[in-house]
Amino acid sequence: MPVVETHNWAKSALGQDIALFKSNENPEHPILLIGGVHGDEPEGVQLANDSLQWLKSNTTHKLAPWIVIPCLNPDGFKKNERTNGNGVDLNRNYPSRDWSPAASKPRYSPGPSPSSEPEIKALVALIQQSKPRLIIHCHSWNPCVVYTGEPGRPDATALGDSSGYEVRDDIGYPTTGSLSQYGWHDNKIPIICIEEAEHAPLKDVWLHFGSGIQKIFSNLSLRNVRER
Ligand SMILES: [Zn+2]
Repeated sequence: MPVVETHNWAKSALGQDIALFKSNENPEHPILLIGGVHGDEPEGVQLANDSLQWLKSNTTHKLAPWIVIPCLNPDGFKKNERTNGNGVDLNRNYPSRDWSPAASKPRYSPGPSPSSEPEIKALVALIQQSKPRLIIHCHSWNPCVVYTGEPGRPDATALGDSSGYEVRDDIGYPTTGSLSQYGWHDNKIPIICIEEAEHAPLKDVWLHFGSGIQKIFSNLSLRNVRER
C-alpha cells in the first residue's frame, strides 16, 4: 500500500507546516511515532526520520499500521529551543485530567490552558480519531526508555535491548499535562518515551534504536489491540 505524505498536516504556533506520514489513507489502531516535541532535542527528530525511512523502504516485513510525525515542534526546532513559538512546553500542554497551570521553571510552561497550543490540538484530534495501539515519542536527556502502561513494557524492553539503555516505568519526576498522563492514565493507550543520550552523534541514533524499532513495527503478534 502506498505511504501517504501530508506536508501541511497541521500548523505550528508561528504558522510553520507540520508534516505527517502514514502507512495508508486510514491506518487502523496505528503505532504513532513522534519526534521533535522539544525543539532542542534533535536526536529525537533524527530517530523519527530514520524510523520513517525504514518504514517507507521496508518490503520484507509485514508491518503494523503506522503514523509518523517527524517534528511536532518546528518552531522550537528551528531555534534550538525546547518550547514552541508561544514559549509552551508541548509535553505539559496535553488536556489530561492532571493538567496544571503551575510550572517550576519557564522551560516547563504548560500554556494558558490545556490543549491551548495548535500542535497539541491537532495531535489530540489525531489520537482521538485514529486510536493508536501504542504511542512512542522520541526525546534526548539522560539515556533511558520509559514506558507508561504495562502493555507497553515488551516494546520498551525491545528498545532497551537494542540500545543497552535502562528501561523504566517512571521518569522520576512529575509531568502533569504530559503525553504519558493523557495517553495512558486518561485513555489507556500505552506510551513509550525514548530518551537518547543528550548530544549523541546523530549518526549513532539509528544504531542504538533501529533493531528495537524494527521489532516493534514488525512484531504483529504482540500487537493485539485491546477492545475498548
Ligand atoms: Zn524532551
